[in-house]
Formats: sequence, C-alpha cells, structure tokens
Amino acid sequence: MAIRKIVTEEDEILHKPCRKVEKFDKRLWQLLDDMAETMYKAEGYGIAGPQVGVLRQLVVIDVGEGKLEVINPTISETEGKVRDAEGCLSVPGKYGYVTRPKKCKLTAQDRFGNTYEKELSDMFCRCACHETDHLKGHLFTELVEEWVED
Ligand code: ZN
Repeated sequence: MAIRKIVTEEDEILHKPCRKVEKFDKRLWQLLDDMAETMYKAEGYGIAGPQVGVLRQLVVIDVGEGKLEVINPTISETEGKVRDAEGCLSVPGKYGYVTRPKKCKLTAQDRFGNTYEKELSDMFCRCACHETDHLKGHLFTELVEEWVED
C-alpha cells in the first residue's frame, strides 16, 4: 500500500465528472487500498477518486462503522434534512454548514463488481452524499450556507 497525494480545491481534476469503473482487477484493488490508507492517515471520513487524481467513480468511506468501498454509486430515496458542519480533505482547514438528507439509499458495487444496497443515515449518509458529489465534479464549498469561523 502507499499514501497518495491528495489534490486540493484549485486542481481542475476536482471539477470534472468521473467515468465509471469497468475493470474490477488487481489495479483497482491496489488503488482502493491506497485510498483507504491515504484517508486514514489524513484522518478523513471519506475519499473519492478525483482527490487522488483518478477520474473514476470510486470512493472509500469510514465514519467509524468500518470501511466501505463504494464503486459506481447512486444515491436515491433521500429523506429528511440535517444541517451540520462539513469539511473536505481537498479543502484543508475550511468548514461550513451544509444541509444534507438525513437518510438515503446507496446503491453501488464492491471491489469484485457485486452490486449492493445500503440504507444510510446521519453522518454516513452525509459522507456518502459528499463523496458522490466529488464523482460529479462538485465540492461541498458550492453548498455551504454559512462558513465556520476559526
Ligand atoms: Zn471531499
């Protein structure tokens, strides 16, 4: 495994939509392992492909409930609204309030290409929405309603 460089806000790769993952091979597994290691080292809750310079629809999340690998995701059946402070490994030191659904359904593939569904709530839901936005080329900064002052 290896730590990858996390690209920041001004890098144009973070503002482009990602292509689908089509090959579920060793190269993908290596990348997912590297992403997880990079996320844990940076003490983040999630990391998306473009954040390590890869324009593919892949995400790793761990909000304290174990690692989840999320490939080619869609979010549906959103429910409720929660406003909370949010940050991003690609926007270091900045936090702002963003309204996200309280619950959602995540449909995605695992590292072997198997499709799964998961009902998410609260922090897990927030993180999945934030990371899925990355795959569409969007950052949380576009949604901030109020910045958290230092
Ligand atoms: Zn982010």
